[in-house]
Amino acid sequence: MTTRGGRNCFACRRQHRRCGSECPLAPFFPLDQPQRFENARRLFGVSNILKILSGIDPALQPDAMRSIIYESDCRAHFPVEGCLAVIRHLLHQLRCAEIELAFLTNEIAHHRSQMEHVDYNQPRKTR
Ligand SMILES: [Zn+2]
Repeated sequence: MTTRGGRNCFACRRQHRRCGSECPLAPFFPLDQPQRFENARRLFGVSNILKILSGIDPALQPDAMRSIIYESDCRAHFPVEGCLAVIRHLLHQLRCAEIELAFLTNEIAHHRSQMEHVDYNQPRKTR
């Protein structure tokens, strides 16, 4: 996003700082996503986010920011459990799918065992 010839991000706007082309937060906190920044600021703090970004390979920074933003958004939606609520929900879905898979595997085995006793050379009996 461009403002008066330079990039601008919500992080800098919120902190009343000048946002330049070197701003590490600009790609992740656009002006039209203020809540994203507020969630990340509330959970991590801007200085910690900047420390995290400066301590890792620049190629990994987008992944780190995706993680920070995801965790922050989860914490905003689930104030007590944060990401744990999402993990529990996914584990529940996984367990349900495993139960369904076990049931269907049993059904297939049952039908296969019945098919072994079918004599395909006999004509089908009709009423
Ligand atoms: Zn900025």
